[in-house]
Amino acid sequence: MRFEGRVAFVTGGASGIGLAAARRLADEGARVALFDVDADAVKDAAGEVGGIGLSGDVSKSEDVAAAYRHVEEAWGRLDVVFANAGVNGVWAPIDELAEDEWDSTVAINLRGTFLTVKHAVPLLKRQGGAVVITSSVQGTRLFSMAGSTAYACTKAAQVAFAQKTAYELGEHGIRVNVICPGYIPTGIGESTEERDTDDLGVPVETPEGSRPLRTSPGTPEQVAALVAFLASDDAGHVTGTPVWIDGGETLVLG
Ligand code: NAD
Repeated sequence: MRFEGRVAFVTGGASGIGLAAARRLADEGARVALFDVDADAVKDAAGEVGGIGLSGDVSKSEDVAAAYRHVEEAWGRLDVVFANAGVNGVWAPIDELAEDEWDSTVAINLRGTFLTVKHAVPLLKRQGGAVVITSSVQGTRLFSMAGSTAYACTKAAQVAFAQKTAYELGEHGIRVNVICPGYIPTGIGESTEERDTDDLGVPVETPEGSRPLRTSPGTPEQVAALVAFLASDDAGHVTGTPVWIDGGETLVLG
């Protein structure tokens, strides 16, 4: 019960990694607010974890600010923020990728992370707290996936964002860490549009057994366990740190 008496805010909480983390934090005693653009799904997910479900778009400042106001009115504090909402967006050759497709991925993944942290900081500063951000192996260790340039750039920038804010917020007792998952089966495929990527780049052959651990793909629950560790006092001396969680996938494919 590492989060007894604490309040957590999880973006992208209606599905996949966010939902698994919300469940885990609630199981360990946290009161959890789930924020997601899918209004019906977030309501169901909040019902399941006994928390508050808030619908909104992470790329819209007023939606994120209103959600934190709701949390403060309901519970009067904030201790943990999981900035996790994200989309794959459009994967296409760079000369075919439309400007609004680029902008949309950057708005949700990077601006969304900025807004999620920016609006949390006044609440976190009161007693300190922990932020965990979901980046990816893409843009940090894996560069051989064709067409996902916009996505990978947002994920690389999230690592810099975590390190910059960890430095800035440390004196307020706020830790910021960033996780970089490999392939995890979730709903993220539904947020992907792939066009003309078949012939892009040098063909990469996946060796038999694509991870040194020779396990099946990781699970949202395994990622949630890492999030809970980083958000807890067990990680009290860990900040500004990316952690890859990919079964060693990127030791084989880079
Ligand atoms: P998912 O699609 O299951 O969950 C993402 C959630 O974010 C969804 O509920 C979706 O409705 C929500 N969302 C999307 N756009 C939003 C917006 N504008 N505002 C608020 N909520 C929004 O996918 P997931 O795999 O659980 O993804 C979570 C994070 O993990 C993402 O940042 C993703 O980039 C990252 N990630 C996933 C994998 C993977 O293989 N699944 C690997 C590396 C990183």
